[in-house]
Amino acid sequence: MEKDMQWIKTFSFLAIVFFVSVVPALGQKTAVLAGHLIDPEAGTVTANQIILVEHNAKSGKSTILEIGSNVDIPGDAEVIDLSDEYVLPGLVDAHDHLGITYKEDPESWNYYFTVIMDSTPLRAIQSFSTGFQKLASGFTVVRDLGNNGLYADTALRQAIEMGWVPGPTMINSGIIIGGFGGQFHEIPEREDTVYPEYLNADTDDEIVKAVRRNIHYGAKVIKVCVDCQAYPYTVEQLRLFVSEAANAGQKVSGHVQTREGARRAIEAGLWSIDHDGALDPELHEMMVEKGVWRVGTETPLADWARTSESRWQRRVAMLKDAYDKGVKLAFSTDADYFIPGMNRGELTIEFLETWKAAGIPDADILKIMTSNGFEISELENERGAIKVGLAADMIATADNPLDDIDALRDVRFVMKDGKVFKKDGVVSSLGFFHNGPAYGWRVR
Ligand SMILES: [Zn+2]
Repeated sequence: MEKDMQWIKTFSFLAIVFFVSVVPALGQKTAVLAGHLIDPEAGTVTANQIILVEHNAKSGKSTILEIGSNVDIPGDAEVIDLSDEYVLPGLVDAHDHLGITYKEDPESWNYYFTVIMDSTPLRAIQSFSTGFQKLASGFTVVRDLGNNGLYADTALRQAIEMGWVPGPTMINSGIIIGGFGGQFHEIPEREDTVYPEYLNADTDDEIVKAVRRNIHYGAKVIKVCVDCQAYPYTVEQLRLFVSEAANAGQKVSGHVQTREGARRAIEAGLWSIDHDGALDPELHEMMVEKGVWRVGTETPLADWARTSESRWQRRVAMLKDAYDKGVKLAFSTDADYFIPGMNRGELTIEFLETWKAAGIPDADILKIMTSNGFEISELENERGAIKVGLAADMIATADNPLDDIDALRDVRFVMKDGKVFKKDGVVSSLGFFHNGPAYGWRVR
């Protein structure tokens, strides 16, 4: 009898734990009625699909449970009717800086002044705003590659992952590592200005320490300034970056501005070459051989853009060359500045103009902005594609971007982690805000 009572007590306790902790968390389901479901990988559209999503309120994780034309919709599921819209994966910007915005007034476009005037806390708030603007334009993933003060990028990633605020999934780099001076031209009186915009690492020992320091403070990719000074890194040093990052399961993204820097970075096997200005057909061939990602800066020719006609023509020609040769391409902007009349999301989508000018077919541009983006972010097994088992991130447009990529200029709907961020063209995101920790404190 005594033993039975004990058993009943234990059972009741476990049952209560189960119902309190598991049942409500599993109860939330959403059915998205997609009139046209786009698979950018295959370049196809399927009519009248139901995407059933399960949201786990405890972990904040969402999962796509089922996709098909004949999915049973549970009676208590929330139903989102997108039967007139084109539903597709979220977009990726493979190179931006959410925690910096330089501008004509008062900095004359010189971010050296921005980093002196704006504190990291202010920039952290700015990075949230910037991420919000990008998410509103359909960018559900951003690789945030430095220039975020003292790890404002990590803070934003943590805040998003803990469920405090909405924002894109962030692959952040922490502080950019470079040879003495970073990307600045310092004066001896104030040479400490370089930090925390850049981490000086001139010797092998300093390289190892800088990589570890970034990873410790929450970097998910390592960003190195390959050739920002007259003393670029050697191939051996770049290989050390790669091996030290790989020791923590991370990749190395290289800011490159000279041909020799690009050559060394490709030879050393960096994950991505960021900025396209130094790339040419021969280097593109090397990149194909080595499987290195091309993360260009496809600034369009526009009245607001600080580029010249000849520079832009070269950019378009080289993008076309890279595409023709089969270089792995990412959509990337480096749009870390303010243009009056546009928010950061609207500015980001303007970069389509360069891709269109290069004659790249709309379906391929879409694949580059989605599938390629998930791959370069190493997220493809977690999120990105609208596939059973992956996180529920998706967007929708009124027109078909496979036929006209400009349809992406009007993203009507955004779902991030199973929750609606934007619907009918209107951002309505109160459900994302939480004083937290909604999904746990242990986000690092
Ligand atoms: Zn950049």
